[in-house]
Amino acid sequence: MKFRSDDTTLSRRDLIRVSGAGVLAGTGLALAGAAASAQEPAGLVKVHRQGVETPFPLNAYLVEGEDGLVVVDAMLTNSASRNLRAKADGFGKPLRAVLLTHPHPDHYAGLGNLTEGLDIPIVSLAEVNDIARRDDADKDAVISGMFGEEWPTNRIFPNDTIGDGETLDFGPGLRFTVMDIGPAESFHDSIFVLEGPAPTAFVGDLVYSFMHPYMADNANPDWKRAISRLQSELPEDMILHVGHGLPATPAFLAWQEAYLDRFEAAILGADWDNPDAARAAVLEDMMAFLPSDELLFFLEQSILPNAKRLGMAE
Ligand SMILES: [Zn+2]
Repeated sequence: MKFRSDDTTLSRRDLIRVSGAGVLAGTGLALAGAAASAQEPAGLVKVHRQGVETPFPLNAYLVEGEDGLVVVDAMLTNSASRNLRAKADGFGKPLRAVLLTHPHPDHYAGLGNLTEGLDIPIVSLAEVNDIARRDDADKDAVISGMFGEEWPTNRIFPNDTIGDGETLDFGPGLRFTVMDIGPAESFHDSIFVLEGPAPTAFVGDLVYSFMHPYMADNANPDWKRAISRLQSELPEDMILHVGHGLPATPAFLAWQEAYLDRFEAAILGADWDNPDAARAAVLEDMMAFLPSDELLFFLEQSILPNAKRLGMAE
């Protein structure tokens, strides 16, 4: 079963899952990709990074196939998500689907604006969907005050789910296989691997390109396990499209791990008898490790929860 190339009225029930679990196990990823391209050319596919700097650096991606588009993640603000939709409309190809990598509001809050008036699949792992819905009221309480008019009130959530190792096919060039990563940077992360001539994946916030990461979901031990898994499973020349910053490769995962280790050491090395001084010391140490203030507020929000987990603060 294949999509007809002239079909522009695909509903979400029409999305195709073409393979089961195990595609990504070990070298199976490369072999599966080679086998698929031998039978059926992947077609034209081009990744367009849509980045904003306001209110902080954030990316979404437009994946352009021969006769359609898929967007990965949906931005945070009203203006960014509407601009993303306008960019998508500008290609003159139908938007086939939106994929959501993880349940943080800077990636899902713009879904309503992005898909306004369209009946298309918004796809994530079931866990990503459940957590985004579960935590939305809490996020709303905190974030609406931070971004005011720019915080979307028409927030919606995935309307279809995909399981680990399954492949989505939205037409020529638009085949994605999901990896279920579990808790890592967020309470549940995933990666969408794009089938095509070069190894490419959308990894959400599992890697930050030289920016301070959000660690307030407090799953850094799980994040480190996820990094180890990715280091063994992803091809070394794979382009990783990230949620914040420029693309990376799997070699960059070592830097992310080093950041997490340095952060833990900084918390353990601080004098928590004076919590304010301890927080300042951690911040100073991480600024020495990464002399940048990009996404510094993610780090600031992360210090106390991790200090509590490590038994250093109450
Ligand atoms: Zn993010």
